[in-house]
Amino acid sequence: MADQFDVVIIGGGPGGYAAALYGAAAGLSIALVERDKVGGTCLHRGCIPAKELLESAAVFRTVNHAATFGVQAGPATMDFPVTLARKDQVVDGLWKGLAGLLKSRKVSTFAGTGVFAGNGRVVVTDDKGATTELTGANVILATGSAPRTIPGFEVDGRFVQTSDEVLATDTLPAWGMDVRTGVAVTGHTPGTSTTFVQLEGGESVEVERIIVSVGRRPLSETLGLDGTGVEVDERGFVKIDATCRTNVGGVWAIGDLVATPQLAHVGFAEGMVVIRDILGEAPVPIAYDRVPWCIYSHPEVAFAGHSEQSARDAGYEVVVSKHQYRGNGRALILGEPDGLVKVIAAKGADGRAGQILGVHMVGPWVTEQLGQGYLAVNWEATVDEVAAFIQPHPTLSELFGETVLSMTGRGLHG
Ligand SMILES: Cc1cc2nc3c(=O)[nH]c(=O)nc-3n(C[C@H](O)[C@H](O)[C@H](O)COP(=O)(O)OP(=O)(O)OC[C@H]3O[C@@H](n4cnc5c(N)ncnc54)[C@H](O)[C@@H]3O)c2cc1C
Repeated sequence: MADQFDVVIIGGGPGGYAAALYGAAAGLSIALVERDKVGGTCLHRGCIPAKELLESAAVFRTVNHAATFGVQAGPATMDFPVTLARKDQVVDGLWKGLAGLLKSRKVSTFAGTGVFAGNGRVVVTDDKGATTELTGANVILATGSAPRTIPGFEVDGRFVQTSDEVLATDTLPAWGMDVRTGVAVTGHTPGTSTTFVQLEGGESVEVERIIVSVGRRPLSETLGLDGTGVEVDERGFVKIDATCRTNVGGVWAIGDLVATPQLAHVGFAEGMVVIRDILGEAPVPIAYDRVPWCIYSHPEVAFAGHSEQSARDAGYEVVVSKHQYRGNGRALILGEPDGLVKVIAAKGADGRAGQILGVHMVGPWVTEQLGQGYLAVNWEATVDEVAAFIQPHPTLSELFGETVLSMTGRGLHG
């Protein structure tokens, strides 16, 4: 007799584990099937290790600029094994925390590859080949994605890597960057310790390694969907409606497996929408055009909602305001004056700035500052409403407040 659950989830990444935790918090009995480690791409091969390594780069930069703050630290050098150990420690700590949380919420986790067998049945095969059959009144498909490669650049364990191998590398690459655009690569010829990448037109470039960064493909093929009736599009994404229902009753799909923004927090949100749908709570569909986006470059980039152009294309007359970090006290204290905040609002009949449609930021720690811009856009708040609130001083986030305040027609500092 198969083990029976309210919900069986295949895939324990951000989409799957969010659905598991949220569903368990609502009192549902949950089975979570994971063939590797809970946490998925995000925790083990994505968001967390990538940002952890970027933080080492930030410390390196800070040390090299310490003298401008009157701190003599000498030129920084990297002890890469320590960097890697720290990254692994952070990832391991979060992984153990997540596993503990799932246990404490009484989520039943099954180690193995889950295949959807139709009619609420999921067959789990573990690494020794033993199978367990689970049945769920509801099934959530959350198997995520994997890096794409291109012909002639298959991962070879030596020169060609994707983000998976880069984040697991144990050697620090040599310095140097030469940007070429508008030209295709056709293949590469390995030498002894370097490889030669052929560019269209005959030129060849010698490199230490090749990182293929051409996007990710959904992992629908691991689910055995043939014959189950679940529709998959020509790119391999499982087809869903506004609340992540597939075309088969009682079966949902979320996260990178579906053609929505491939972001961990979108996976979390989709997991919660599905659980609320299962509970009959008629969840509000996710506004995919207003989700938060963050790029962890230096300076950082973050945005939510319309750009100036997309707002105009959508038929809005707009009022736009921009303020630069070089006028912000905290940014100068940090020595990070580059960047700006741009707010786009709908122009009312009186010509004044009304509803906030989009917030765009480039500058220091803007990924941490986007939150209130995201809330303003999604709460459909007006400039007057947001301008009435106080921003703490001195903070980087004052610049968002200042930008919105100026749109009322009366600003303070800018
Ligand atoms: C380098 C990198 C950096 C990133 N940085 C960010 C970031 O900063 N912010 C952000 O929001 N997003 C980021 N992402 C994207 C984010 O990692 C993904 O959007 C997110 O992990 C998707 O979650 P998911 O649950 O859909 O899939 P995944 O995280 O891929 O998890 C799917 C899980 O399903 C398991 N699985 C697959 N098939 C089966 C099967 N048949 N049976 C059992 N288990 C199975 C896999 O082992 C995996 O654990 C990054 C991605 C990469 C690659």
